[in-house]
Amino acid sequence: MTKKKNSPADKIQDLQYFGEFGGVNPSIADSTTFTYLAGKTMHDVFEGNREGCYLYSRHTNPTTSYLGQAIAEMENTAGSVLTSSGMAAITTTILELCSSGDEIISSQTVYGGTFAFMQNYLPKFNIKTHFVNTTNLDEIKSKINKKTKLIYCETMSNPLLEISDIRNISKIAKAHKLKLVVDNTFTPMIFSPTVLGADIVIHSLTKFINGTSDTVGGIICSDEEFISNLIDVNSGSAMLLGPVMDSMRAASILKNLRTLHIRMKKHSENAQYLSEKFFNDNITVIYPGLKHHPQHSLMSQLMNKEFGYGGMLVIEMNTREKANQLMEEMQANNLGYLAVSLGFYKTLFSAPSHSTSSEIPEHNRKNIGLSDGLVRISIGLDNNIKRTYKLMKNCIDKVNSF
Ligand code: PLP
Repeated sequence: MTKKKNSPADKIQDLQYFGEFGGVNPSIADSTTFTYLAGKTMHDVFEGNREGCYLYSRHTNPTTSYLGQAIAEMENTAGSVLTSSGMAAITTTILELCSSGDEIISSQTVYGGTFAFMQNYLPKFNIKTHFVNTTNLDEIKSKINKKTKLIYCETMSNPLLEISDIRNISKIAKAHKLKLVVDNTFTPMIFSPTVLGADIVIHSLTKFINGTSDTVGGIICSDEEFISNLIDVNSGSAMLLGPVMDSMRAASILKNLRTLHIRMKKHSENAQYLSEKFFNDNITVIYPGLKHHPQHSLMSQLMNKEFGYGGMLVIEMNTREKANQLMEEMQANNLGYLAVSLGFYKTLFSAPSHSTSSEIPEHNRKNIGLSDGLVRISIGLDNNIKRTYKLMKNCIDKVNSF
């Protein structure tokens, strides 16, 4: 009999953590350093000959371990390293995998900060990135050579909401002994990239996973070997660059993680409703849950269906002026906030070409179809989405009538 695959939500629900006095939340280990009864034991820990001991919180901390284990469970990986931001997770991973002379093949539609790191920062270390359309597998293959170390993509790209064919990209990676690194920030629970063949999964916890827009954080999830390499006291990027998460923050994110499954379903339900309505109104909308989205059927095959097609949608307003007018109008009508980031209970909107993707040069933006009039919307947890639709539609009509 084949064993039924557990939902990522069940895996988190099944975890049991207690505080030291039986509290239903684990106690917060508010300490940077931990005592030893014997000098020899400490020496053994440093040498890596003794497991289960805490030493110093840049290495590991009981509270960050709880959160790290929970997200590793969700992502089906043996371990994880929590970081102080999503960018710290991305940069630490890449610097662990690449040395001078190595090359990366990355999706051309990635978060602006990721693009800037690869394009502007990594050349300082003689690491080159080829940006390709990763929805075209032949483009990936055409850039592989002896120097290639990794393939990088986002499950659902920021901001164009393209879906990566993780299963087939991972086959290419495995055939050439490359690591496949996937940023799952837009789609926690919706996609389980390691089940589809990815080697390393990254999240910006700042977004949906934390969901309260009060904390910046990140995580790297992978197998035991990669995780222990990252925290190796002599050579690990996480240990030596030191992008750690604070235990107080880890404790608060852990509490929010427990409602992630409910939030993701609601974000998706609301975004699906609005995008169908807008599509029927002949408004140009990008949403992977719409049947005409180029990767709709691919996503339907790869996703964990119970969580829907995600909380992000994009509206094309054609010009920068109209994009700005729409966002100002929506904010004035209390439909959400004109703010970057995503995954909040309120709807958040920004125009990526003049904000979160402005690091991508104009000609690259044109090439990938990221226009000045594009408005990226992170749909909130609105209880009455019908009312939201009517108000949003009024805003769009008003701006289009100017
Ligand atoms: N990955 C994606 C897809 C993002 O959208 C962002 C930020 O917007 C990041 C990574 C970076 O995360 P952080 O802001 O937590 O450093």
